[in-house]
Amino acid sequence: MPDTPASAPSIVRVAIDRPLDRLFDYRSPPDRDVRPGMRVRVPFGPTRLTGVVMEAGVTSEMDPGRLRAVSEVLDATPILPDSLRELLGFGGRYYHHPIGEVVLGALPPALRRGRPLPEAATPEPLWAVTEQGHRALADGAVRGERQRAIVAALADPDSAPGGRLDRPTLAGILGRRPAPRELERLAERGWLECRPPEHPTDVPPEADSAAARPLTPEQQAAVDALTPGEAQPLLLEGVTGSGKTEVYLRMAERVVARGEQVLVLIPEIALTPQLAARIQARFPGRVALLHSGLAEGERLRAWASAARGEARVVVGTRSALFTPLPEPGLIVVDEEHDAAFKQQDGFRYNARDLAIKRGQLEAIPVVLGSATPTLETLQAARQGRYTHCPLRTRPDGTAPPRIEAVDTRVHTPDEGLTSPLLDAMQATLAGGQQCFVLLNRRGYARTLACDHCGWVADCRHCDARLTIHAGQPRAICHLCGHHEPVPDRCPDCGAELARRGLGTQRLEQALARHFPQTPLIRLDRDSIRHKGALEDALERIRSLDAAIVVGTQMLAKGHDFPRVGLVGVVDVDQGLYSVDLRAAEHTLQLIVQAAGRAGRGEAGGRVLLQTGHPEHPLIRGLDAADYTAMVRPLLDERAESGFPPFGHLALVRVEAEDANTAETRAGEVAAPLRRAAAPGVRVLGPAPAPRHRVNRRYREQILVQSGDRRALHATLHQARRAWEGLTLPREVRIALDVDPVSLA
Ligand code: ADP
Ligand code: ZN
Ligand code: ZN
Repeated sequence: MPDTPASAPSIVRVAIDRPLDRLFDYRSPPDRDVRPGMRVRVPFGPTRLTGVVMEAGVTSEMDPGRLRAVSEVLDATPILPDSLRELLGFGGRYYHHPIGEVVLGALPPALRRGRPLPEAATPEPLWAVTEQGHRALADGAVRGERQRAIVAALADPDSAPGGRLDRPTLAGILGRRPAPRELERLAERGWLECRPPEHPTDVPPEADSAAARPLTPEQQAAVDALTPGEAQPLLLEGVTGSGKTEVYLRMAERVVARGEQVLVLIPEIALTPQLAARIQARFPGRVALLHSGLAEGERLRAWASAARGEARVVVGTRSALFTPLPEPGLIVVDEEHDAAFKQQDGFRYNARDLAIKRGQLEAIPVVLGSATPTLETLQAARQGRYTHCPLRTRPDGTAPPRIEAVDTRVHTPDEGLTSPLLDAMQATLAGGQQCFVLLNRRGYARTLACDHCGWVADCRHCDARLTIHAGQPRAICHLCGHHEPVPDRCPDCGAELARRGLGTQRLEQALARHFPQTPLIRLDRDSIRHKGALEDALERIRSLDAAIVVGTQMLAKGHDFPRVGLVGVVDVDQGLYSVDLRAAEHTLQLIVQAAGRAGRGEAGGRVLLQTGHPEHPLIRGLDAADYTAMVRPLLDERAESGFPPFGHLALVRVEAEDANTAETRAGEVAAPLRRAAAPGVRVLGPAPAPRHRVNRRYREQILVQSGDRRALHATLHQARRAWEGLTLPREVRIALDVDPVSLA
């Protein structure tokens, strides 16, 4: 950088973690070359804050003599590359969120607070079970729960494909971090051995069975469709079990062989430990895992190893999208339809959509994979904006099972279960196969009600019923967490209370009565609360023959179980008739994903769907083998209403402690939107949100819709300016959600 004359000090423009939609100018120290992407400490009011330099060598509108100076430069080289700063700038503008919060929020917490970037990490050694260790495990000689868990995890080809794991990965599987000392002690006993980190070619191919098998023609075509080195979005639309993961892995191998890095985004790491393990097995010692379950230091190390180019494959949840990659080559978004990619508060970005943008900025392909792609993604593929790679068949030749409706008007359910479902379960279990029973509602009963006077146990803070949990003396609100003792009798009239509506716990009890001899496993957020509980449950399912698994949508997630002969879906009617934007779409996705768990082995499988509306066009059209055909009615509906993908939406929510304030203020917020509305932009509302009261606050909402994205954003932009001029009470909050996933 040329020397700047003393009369014109070099000025930098800095993003800081404050809800203000602008950057701040500071004088840069004369003796330092401060470049964009470096962190600095800057004075801000009476305090000092960590910021990220977004622009350097600028001229300020302010009198340079009055500018304050950067107090400290924290990085020797930029930690955020140009492409990411550009992405974050775009994200801030697109989602109308203050740039400083966007930029600082993209950093691991440790860096946000000014910690130094760690020195180059030495690669983690790998741990494996010895012959002696395998014998000891089989003989029950490995005592102590913690010790056994470690040896068992390493001995299990599902959790440790290739038979070896590094400590951070092992930590992910165990749900806790084993101390180095624990592993060393097991090695001293001769049960474990420590091996130096290796090169990917060292993995014995038999350790990873799919790697050795030839791809199906469709898989091969998908891998061949990839054009490394070019901005290219691809939709990998593969029926459940069609081998999408294998396609990601082969694509990743190609890209890594070119000397480039791969970023794999997944909805939630805890629910799908298999995927991370398979990637780890294919690229041993070269994978960084990034998710919120990591300790701060671990997360920082993983981030740094990606940023330095040591990790060649980065696997992470939503926020991992913002990991710097010096040699980016490919982004994969697995289960792209999953709502977990959308952040639901603060900076409400969709990592799937920003991944496409990042692909453009870095000129690399982005693969979106799903058996049930969102309508937005399907439409983009239909219009040729995305390369469409379908996988219609499974490698083992089986097809996703047909979905049969059970009419609950004919077969009245008793505690959620109809006789055709019970009969089918009986037959499946007798054949040594497993039954999955899906009910997307946890808890025991949905609520308590009085049949005499009509009293119901509502949450006192929300428009929601309290849920009753088995064996617990408290009724709980699933929206705000409020709980209170379950009353014995109706507080209004003293009559006895009835437990209404079915939850997974009650269903579990009912199933236990019908099948007292059969092992029963429940999978829902309550049952996996303890660390390692999910892994244990998945392990049990894999080790058992005949068994019943009852659970929420959690059991529909990408698990690959070979012995599921029957999937029963207890009740989805609510989802079909909900007014919420995507409720029907999410319901269809859930049914198809759940159905996809059945029939992966030779014996084939059945799917029974209990419904009171078998004539509903969406139910009649259910076909797990052809999702695109199935959702055509939904697409038509959206086209008619101008909703996504045929139009664009933003939701403005105004919250206050009382209903009147919320209503009045929402009117004040809506007025500038209406004034600013460009032609073709519709402003609907304000109206009370479908859930009007949550956690003691009342919510009004305004929906802004347009067929023209630019016009929509111009309107939002102008309205936001006007909102800054409103003097609202502190407790009133305005939230803006661009491309909302839900309107509830
Ligand atoms: P998806 O992610 O599409 O649901 P998976 O990637 O989990 O499917 O694959 C389903 C099963 O098929 C896995 O057990 C996997 O090992 C196996 N598989 C994938 N590709 C092949 C192949 N080309 N030949 C044989 N088996 C394969
Ligand atoms: Zn009563
Ligand atoms: Zn509540």
